Amino acid sequence: MSDHYVKAKVQLEQMKSSGEDAEKEPGSGAEDGEEEMPAEASPPASVSPILPSNSTTTAGRNASKTSVTSRNRSKSRGRVAKDDKNTCCKQDPDIALHGSKVAANAGRILNRIGHDHTLQIKGTGKILQGKTESNGNVGPNHQIKDVKGVKEDGNKVATKRKPVTVDTSKAKTSLEALKLSIKQLKWKEFPLGRRTACDIYWHGVSFHDNDNIVSGQVNKFPGMIEMLRKINLSRAVRTMQELFPEEYNFYPRSWILPEEFQQFSTQIRMVKENDSTLKPTFIVKPDGGSQGDGIYLIRDPNDLRLMGGASPGGKQAVVQEYIHKPLLIDKLKFDIRLYVLVKSLNPLEIYIAKEGLSRFCTEPYQEPCQKNLSHVFMHLTNYSLNVQSGNFVHSDSLSTGSKRTFSSVLYRLASKGVDIKKVWSDIISLVIKTVIALVPELRVHYQADIPPGKPGPSCFQILGFDILLMKNLKPVLLEVNANPSMRIEHEQEVAPGVFEYVPSPVDEEVKVGVIRDTLRLMDPAHRKLLAHPGGVSEPQEEILVDAASPERGGEEGGLLPSLCLKQVFPKYTKQFNYLRLVERITTLFLRFLGVKGNMRLGPTGFRTFIRNCKLSNSNFSMASVDILYIDITRRWSGMLPDSREAGMGLQAFVEAFFYLAQRRFKSLALREQVLSLLELCEAQLEPPGGPGEERRSLSCTRAPPAGGGRTHHQTQPPASLTP
Ligand code: ADP
Repeated sequence: MSDHYVKAKVQLEQMKSSGEDAEKEPGSGAEDGEEEMPAEASPPASVSPILPSNSTTTAGRNASKTSVTSRNRSKSRGRVAKDDKNTCCKQDPDIALHGSKVAANAGRILNRIGHDHTLQIKGTGKILQGKTESNGNVGPNHQIKDVKGVKEDGNKVATKRKPVTVDTSKAKTSLEALKLSIKQLKWKEFPLGRRTACDIYWHGVSFHDNDNIVSGQVNKFPGMIEMLRKINLSRAVRTMQELFPEEYNFYPRSWILPEEFQQFSTQIRMVKENDSTLKPTFIVKPDGGSQGDGIYLIRDPNDLRLMGGASPGGKQAVVQEYIHKPLLIDKLKFDIRLYVLVKSLNPLEIYIAKEGLSRFCTEPYQEPCQKNLSHVFMHLTNYSLNVQSGNFVHSDSLSTGSKRTFSSVLYRLASKGVDIKKVWSDIISLVIKTVIALVPELRVHYQADIPPGKPGPSCFQILGFDILLMKNLKPVLLEVNANPSMRIEHEQEVAPGVFEYVPSPVDEEVKVGVIRDTLRLMDPAHRKLLAHPGGVSEPQEEILVDAASPERGGEEGGLLPSLCLKQVFPKYTKQFNYLRLVERITTLFLRFLGVKGNMRLGPTGFRTFIRNCKLSNSNFSMASVDILYIDITRRWSGMLPDSREAGMGLQAFVEAFFYLAQRRFKSLALREQVLSLLELCEAQLEPPGGPGEERRSLSCTRAPPAGGGRTHHQTQPPASLTP
C-alpha cells in the first residue's frame, strides 16, 4: 500500500541471489461478523478490552464487560443517542468542508435515493424470542399479474404465470429476510424442500448444503468459502498486484503466516532503517476467522514470535498493514458493509446494492500506540464485538446509533462537502477489481462441481464486502464475506434480565431489499427476457444516484420499488476488461484440465499445454518442462497442506505461466510479458481460419472472447467512473 514497502521489497529482491520466484508464495462456513453472533461470543482472548484511561462514563464502566447479558445496554443507548444528536450538526474535523453547493446537491441526490427505497417493512413484533410471525406488509397491488404469453404462431394469449418456487429449507439465518422477500414477490416458498425441482434454492452456508440439485439456481458458488478465506483472498489479490500494482493498491500489504514471517520481518526492518520516524502497526488475522475473533495488533514483527504467530507449525494467519488514519465520524472509526451480487461468472455479471451498512466502533479512535493496541472497541468495527460494549447503541432510526445505513453516512459526508460521487466511484472500482481477482479460482471450482454438459444448477451469490474509508476518503478492502449475515433482528434487553429478539429496522431496510431484488434478478422469467436480444437493458450512466432506475423486475415492475441492486459489470466492461489476464490464463488451464471434475493438472496435461502452444524449443526442452512442473507443483503442495488432489493447481499454473512469460519476453515488464505469452498461446490454440485469424486479417483489433476479454490494447488504467 505504501511506497515504503515497495522500496523494501525491491531492496529485498535485489539482495536475493537466485532472483527467481522467491516472492510468489503459493498457497480454506461460518457466517460473517456483521454477522452471526455465536451464543457465547466473547472478545478475542488476545485483545481484551481495556478501560479508556479518562473514562468515567457508562462506556468506561462497561468496556470490560463482554457478556451478551450486559445490563447497561439500554441505559447507555439513550445517552449515546443524545450525544449523537448533539454532535450531528458540529463540524467534523476529519472532513474538509468544500462548500455548501456540493452538499446541497448531494443532499438532493440522497433524498432521491431515500425515496427510491420506500418499501419500508415496519417490524412490529415480527420476531419475538426467536419465534416469527411475518407481517409482510406488501399491499395487494404487489401480486404478480397475469401476463401475456406469446404462442408459437405469434398470437398473444393470456397465460397465468406460475409463481417462482423457492426451496428455503437450508436458508438458516437468512430465513426471515428471505420469507419477507418471497412474500413481497408473491412467489411460492417450500420451507421443507420439495420432491420436484424448485426454481431457486437458498442455502445458508455453502453450495454443498444440498448436493442433489440438478437444475434451477443455487445462491452459492462452489469454492466461494474457500476462496474468501483470508489467505486465499490475499493471494488472489497479490497475484493481481504483481500485474497491476497501482490498480490493486486498495488492499493493505499482507503477508501469510507462518511461511512469510521471514520476508515480513526483513521488509519491516528495512522500512524502519530507511525512515526511522516510521512506526507502522500491523493487524494479525487468523485465516478462516470471523467476527474479529483472534485478531490482534502488533508494532514489531518480534511480537509475532511472542504470540506464536511465527512458529513454523503455527496456525495460518494473515498479517497486514494497519490503516492507522481511518475516516472518523463523531471521533469513531467505522467500516462499510456493502452487498454485492455475483449474478454469473461466465459471462461475468456483478451488481452492487445501492444501500449498505456502516458499523461503528464504540470507543473514540486514537492512532495506534503501544498503550491502546488492545482496545478492541477503538480499533475493530465488528458488530459482534462492539455490541458487547456498554456504549453500543441499537439504532431506532436509519441514521443514528452504532449500525446505520451507508446512505445516512454519505448524507452526513455530503453535508460537509465530500464528493460522494467520487467515493462511490472508487468503491465500485474496488468491488469490480476484487471480483475479477476471485473469478479465476471460482471458475475452476465451478467446472469441477458442475462440469459442462452434465446436469446441474447455475449459481449466483450475495457477498459482503467490508470496506474502510481512509481519512483521505480512499476506500480500502478489509475482507469479503461469503456468508454475510442476513439476520434482520437483534437481541435486546426489553426488561431487566429479559432478552428478546427484536426487529432491527436498519437491517431490515437494507437486507430485505438485497434479497428481494436478488430474487427479482434471478427470476427465471426475467432471465429469459434478458437472454432475448431485445430484452437486454441498456447500460446506464448513473452510479447509485439514479433514483429513477428503469431496472424494474419482470411483470411486477412498477409495483415494487425499482431495484436496489445496480449493475456494474458488464456495464463497465471497457474500463476493467484489461485486468482479466489471469482469467485468460485460467481459460487455458481449464482447457487442458478437461471436464472430469478435477482441479489439478497432471504432468501429461501440462506437457500437452506446452506442446500445443508450441512453447518448447531448443532452449527449453521437454525435460526442462517436466522439471518446471515438478518443481512448482511440489512447492505449492507443500504450502497447501490440506489439498487432497495431486497435481498442479491454478495458482501453481499461473506461477508457471509467469515464469514462461518472463523467460520468453525478457525485455518487457511482467504485465506485457504475460499478455504477449497469452496472445501467443491463444493464437496457437485457435483452429486455422478460426475466428481469431479472420479477425486479424480484417483488422488489428480483437473482440473479447467469452469470459476472458482480449482488449489488450487497452492496458491503460481506467479513468475514474464518472456517475
Ligand atoms: P473478521 O473476519 O474477523 O471480521 P476483518 O478482516 O473484517 O476480520 O477485520 C476485523 C476488523 O478489524 C475490521 O472490521 C476492521 O475494523 C479492522 N481491520 C481489519 N483490517 C484492518 C486494517 N488493515 N487496518 C485497519 N483496520 C482493520
